[in-house]
Amino acid sequence: MAKVELKGIGKVYEGNVRAVDNANIVVEDKEFVVLVGPSGCGKSTTLRMVAGLEDISEGELYIDGEIMNDVPPKDRNIAMVFQNYALYPHMTVYENMAFGLRIKKVPKDEIDKRVHEAARILDIEKFLDRKPKALSGGQRQRVAVGRAIVRNPKVFLFDEPLSNLDAKLRVQMRAELSDLHLRLNATMIYVTHDQVEAMTMANKIVVMKDGKIQQIGAPLFLYNHPVNKFVAGFIGSPPMNFLTVKVSEEGGQVVLDEGSFKVKPAPEHAEYVRKYIGKELLFGIRPEDLSYQTEAASENNVAVKITVVEPLGADINLWVTTPTQPLVIRTEPHFSFKVGDTANFVPHMDKARYFDKETELSILKELDEAAK
Ligand code: ADP
Repeated sequence: MAKVELKGIGKVYEGNVRAVDNANIVVEDKEFVVLVGPSGCGKSTTLRMVAGLEDISEGELYIDGEIMNDVPPKDRNIAMVFQNYALYPHMTVYENMAFGLRIKKVPKDEIDKRVHEAARILDIEKFLDRKPKALSGGQRQRVAVGRAIVRNPKVFLFDEPLSNLDAKLRVQMRAELSDLHLRLNATMIYVTHDQVEAMTMANKIVVMKDGKIQQIGAPLFLYNHPVNKFVAGFIGSPPMNFLTVKVSEEGGQVVLDEGSFKVKPAPEHAEYVRKYIGKELLFGIRPEDLSYQTEAASENNVAVKITVVEPLGADINLWVTTPTQPLVIRTEPHFSFKVGDTANFVPHMDKARYFDKETELSILKELDEAAK
């Protein structure tokens, strides 16, 4: 069992710098939780408070129900893996992995058993006699993970562990860490600025901005039900489009008027959008939720001019504009789109999101709550 609970956790650095504000997070036993957000949003600080590497300014930290605020890092039964690996260059891989256990006076046989077991899990047995400089980046990262595994911790913490690896290796290590999570059956908290890592690895994502948690939820729930414009734009690549539209009523029906096109909200959204009649609203639509039309559709047609064509193989990203607003569309590759062409699309209105222009909050909160 290893459940981690942050209750109203805050961090104020010297000089009154507030890095984290009122963080409430429950990491269930065996869960893989990813803290994600742009640089400087307070992810690492939050993780370091769990590890005991930073003092907690406000709130309480519990591990398995026991308060940890004043427990020294070495007694929290936690292992942390860092971005820069933090390996000892003069020691072999074996010694690097054994070092922490030696300090703890674990018997030699036991150390040997644990190092070999971890090396086997990570497929680094053949490197045990090498020094870190004779290893690739990916192999070094595996040693750093191995050093955490041998300690048999209650909780694994990862601070941007894949940031120093090239793109291909990152994809591979992502899969390896997910697999490791399943095999070790361990509780893991992982920090990254990369929303793809969060989406692919997490059981639960915590999105942060400016020291504040924006939303917590399963990856696809956040993707489909973002609480605000920030989460909607941060999760997903290319990001969601946000178009300013004016809400009006025509013949008893609610209509969104972009200036160059008019679309009708899906029936389930109409009553929420209706409250904005006479006002502006942000109409959010993901790049993959617009369908290409060979001819202008009779209803909900969006005509755009193509400015950039990005062929990706399996699909194409089109960067386009209405006369006044840019957007990006992801579509199948079999259409021969050319820069300067006009093309017609119909948005999947049931997938649309709506955000208040002032507060940037989703206006579909009730529907999102019901979808939980
Ligand atoms: P992230 O991991 O999301 O990039 P951090 O947790 O490292 O963000 O930092 C959050 C905020 O706290 C930033 O504004 C950063 O400048 C500030 N900060 C981090 N460490 C310190 C420190 N030791 N002293 C003062 N401010 C700090």
